[in-house]
Amino acid sequence: MAAADTSLADQIAQCVIDSYRALPKRGKPTSKGPDKEEWTVLAGFVIEDTRPEASQRLTCVALGTGLKCLHSKQLRPFGDTVHDSHAEVVARRALVVYLMNQLHQPQTMPPVFGTHSDSAKHRLDSQLLLHLYTSQCPCGDASVDSLKTAEDEDEEPQLKRRRVNDGVIRGHQDFASLGTLRLKPGRADSIPTLSMSCSDKIARWNAVGVQGSLLAQLIDPIYLSSIVVGDLFNQQSIDRALNQRVARALADKRLPSGFRANQCTIEQATVVFERSQTAMKANNASVSEDGVVTADSSIYWFLGAASSVALVNGQRQGAKVRRDACQTKKLWPDICKLALFHKYRELFPQSQEVSTYRQEKDRAAEYQAVKACLAEAPEFGAWVRCPEECESFDTAGCVQTAAEDSR
Ligand SMILES: [Zn+2]
Repeated sequence: MAAADTSLADQIAQCVIDSYRALPKRGKPTSKGPDKEEWTVLAGFVIEDTRPEASQRLTCVALGTGLKCLHSKQLRPFGDTVHDSHAEVVARRALVVYLMNQLHQPQTMPPVFGTHSDSAKHRLDSQLLLHLYTSQCPCGDASVDSLKTAEDEDEEPQLKRRRVNDGVIRGHQDFASLGTLRLKPGRADSIPTLSMSCSDKIARWNAVGVQGSLLAQLIDPIYLSSIVVGDLFNQQSIDRALNQRVARALADKRLPSGFRANQCTIEQATVVFERSQTAMKANNASVSEDGVVTADSSIYWFLGAASSVALVNGQRQGAKVRRDACQTKKLWPDICKLALFHKYRELFPQSQEVSTYRQEKDRAAEYQAVKACLAEAPEFGAWVRCPEECESFDTAGCVQTAAEDSR
């Protein structure tokens, strides 16, 4: 199809879907039998090169799929597991790997980063724009209105109705509450997760950037130009969840140089991701409503990777999980906290004096200052942070006790 015939939003969506299709089957949703078909969410980051002379305008640089999230009792202290495997989160972690690689040894032309005389840090080239595509509206506040319409008749059991924490709602309940922090839903009868919804996490990227705290020490924050959403699209609720909350929370704050309350454009994609819930239900008349089930596995991929990687329960698919010890290095998913920490230290070895992942994150003073500004605002004050005992590992995945830290 000629580019001129298609909206930029659809081109961005198509760019991610094409990259997904080019990846091997392993970890992708599949047919589980004659009356069982898996669906998933696909998310991906696309860099748009706006230079007139650019040979390729849109490039998908990272993507992820998935709908699963570990509950609080499944979390591990070694950093070797991906706690939150929702597509947007997996894709964002893959983006961080891509950015680390680009910063260390640029593989693409033109280079993604430049340096500027007014800042010691690297900066994404100003003619490059970053877009996020997600095949379904991000879970949490952005999708509350659509789910409310879809499930108005659904009587929820009392079990689902408990709040975990003041100001935070557990998953799919209390749809009347808008602009509220929500934890990722697990099954109604399961132990709660400690992972904030994708709406909450993307909203926070609008304040601190998508690069994460480690890279924030080396580069200026990178913000989304737009988010392109497929199913359950509702402009108003997405804008409320991702933009307005952040604008309100940071309205009176003085932010460190380079940071802002970013407002991303919100666009709807009309191209269809073939393994979305809507497409699976529409295209499989022979499969009953209950036969279209959520995929157990996730995949992630970043530009420059040899291939995509499949994850199940936050570990590489097929890896035997050692219960009481860190996985061996070759089993670490590239996008887990431990692998990112290890890679960061390997690529940028100037930062040797702190020992744990949490300490390294805390060194990003400006990034943490923006997070603190958000935490002071009622919109984000009840944010549930990953427990410290899950971020007290060193670059080898050894858990450092408090006593050792204070020596
Ligand atoms: Zn999500």
